[in-house]
Amino acid sequence: MDLTTEKKPLISVIIPAYNESQGITATLNEVARILNTCAVDWEIVIVDDGSRDQTYQKVVELAKTDPRIKGIALSRNFGKEGAMLAGFESAIGDAVIILDADLQHPPTLIPDMIDKWRSGAQIVHAVKRSREDDSVSKKAAAYCINTLISSLSGINVNNASDFKLLDREIVDIIIYKLPERGRFFRGLTSWLGFSEEYLYFDVASRQGDESKWSFWSLLELSITALTSFTSLPLRIITFLGFATLLLGFSVASEALWSLFKGQSVSGYATIIISQLLIGSFIMISLGIIGEYIAKIYEEVKARPHYLIKASLGITAKQRKVD
Ligand code: UDP
Ligand code: MG
Repeated sequence: MDLTTEKKPLISVIIPAYNESQGITATLNEVARILNTCAVDWEIVIVDDGSRDQTYQKVVELAKTDPRIKGIALSRNFGKEGAMLAGFESAIGDAVIILDADLQHPPTLIPDMIDKWRSGAQIVHAVKRSREDDSVSKKAAAYCINTLISSLSGINVNNASDFKLLDREIVDIIIYKLPERGRFFRGLTSWLGFSEEYLYFDVASRQGDESKWSFWSLLELSITALTSFTSLPLRIITFLGFATLLLGFSVASEALWSLFKGQSVSGYATIIISQLLIGSFIMISLGIIGEYIAKIYEEVKARPHYLIKASLGITAKQRKVD
């Protein structure tokens, strides 16, 4: 293959960043250095997800030295899913790579991702081999929720990460054909099908300060992941209802039998226990139904996933929406 005459593909790298001023410069320099070794044209789009520190100012500084560095500032913190979508809707590459701002997704994997893409893969997933940085409790929580999502939805998200390369065709599907509000990018990309390839990486220690996810934001993401991929919890409620009904029948017949035999029906404690148990079943069930109703409510409102307050190097024409 003659690389000198062939038109180089354009690779877009999207980096969502929330309060990443400490590490963003190092990350950008490293990503640019790696991209320069890849025989491709490139652009890097940093999406500042409403940071309260100097992240966007740093991007503006860096963009002055290289116009291939572009920035989008969201009007407030919309969460990583919104930030990623803002990146997809602004990137113009033939393939798009998404990676974290804290160098936990090693940019050294980028050349291998591009190679896999060149040889035909439309989605290249980078899968975590280990998570050194995480505490035992975070690892355990991640394992439990990932296993739950994987077993209920049939989509394997264990060790999955948001570090991926997507072909233009896939990016366009994400932008135009998946309008849902409650997004779980990791799961969506596996749900799509197409030709997928996998690469493995060790999660490096975080550059900069601590993780940007709070317990509640992780819980929120887990609920979104579950509710947007499976309605099995609703079905479980129905089964639970039938199981309780059967139990009710057997207890009732035992009570009636005792009554006919002239024995007094026993069990004040039994009544209290069954009341409490059934009461809590009902409340949990209502909670689960409520989660789905809340998701429907969000979808029906159809608010935008994010709002842009400033951008740099991105023309209105190149944006895929608005
Ligand atoms: N992030 C974001 N918005 C948020 C939270 C995180 O854009 O509300 C970005 C963050 O800047 C980083 C990436 O998402 O680039 C992953 O976040 P973090 O490293 O805190 O998560 P972890 O590595 O613990 O999964
Ligand atoms: Mg991280």
